[in-house]
Amino acid sequence: MKQDIKQFSNDIYQIDVFMEDKPGRMSCYYIDSTDPILIEVGPSNSFAYLISSLESLGINNVNRSAMTHLHLDHIGGVGHLVEKYKNHFVYIHELGLKHLPNPEKLWKAVSSIYTEEWLKKNWGEIKPTPVENIHTLKDEQKISLGNQRNLQAIYGPGHAKHHYTFYDEFSGTLFMGDTLGLIYPHGDFVQPNLPPPDFNKEILFDTLDKLSKLELKYLALAHFGIHSDPYRLIQNAKESIEVWIQFINNLPTLSDSDAAKKLKKWIVTNYTVLGIDKNTIDNYINNSHFEMQVRGIKNYLNT
Ligand SMILES: [Zn+2]
Repeated sequence: MKQDIKQFSNDIYQIDVFMEDKPGRMSCYYIDSTDPILIEVGPSNSFAYLISSLESLGINNVNRSAMTHLHLDHIGGVGHLVEKYKNHFVYIHELGLKHLPNPEKLWKAVSSIYTEEWLKKNWGEIKPTPVENIHTLKDEQKISLGNQRNLQAIYGPGHAKHHYTFYDEFSGTLFMGDTLGLIYPHGDFVQPNLPPPDFNKEILFDTLDKLSKLELKYLALAHFGIHSDPYRLIQNAKESIEVWIQFINNLPTLSDSDAAKKLKKWIVTNYTVLGIDKNTIDNYINNSHFEMQVRGIKNYLNT
């Protein structure tokens, strides 16, 4: 089974779980400290990749994991995780307590955007997680990694109202989930990720400003990988979000799908002007759901 694991200093592993069977789409992280933890699990269909990577590192039991938020590309495999590892528990926003044991509502909400057929094929069906395997997070809660190292949960809404980021002060790494946006391999810029129903610029910028006050060395993104130069990337994300909102705001009469086509074309032009190579542009464009972005922005503008 294919694997792509990168070891960083301070016992942090980045594991590509080959979301939708593609490389560079979804990273999970494993902090192999005295008391280890897994961050994110990925969708159900990625679970076999995650397990084979962990096993290749000699990790045959994972006691606990932390999920950034309740979107299915991040938590689809949680039910598999608690089934595979005895006594495994998962840290997550309190809404997890409502949705993980009964994931039908999450499934329906996402099917309405992607279609059920697409979801089954690409992310896979989800299994329920028993209530007793769920630990709800509190803002600024410190999760001990052993040896006086902590992972701090920081509530970070804006992309989703149930979003936490996780800060490892010891390494200066902030596990961002989707709070920043997308950085696909070889891109050193951030592409916004602003889905409905929760995207809200003011709330997201407050979160990013709060996170900017931390002493940061690295940002670890779900989509995708660990990046240095954190403060520049946060600034870059904010600027891109502003211009995307402006762009959509200037197209009030277009349908969502027509606006999505215009947005896509405009982005390709912008990336080309910036001198970005074709492969990188294709990677961003082919792996983005522009209509969802349009809906997220319009929903924000109308609230
Ligand atoms: Zn995501």
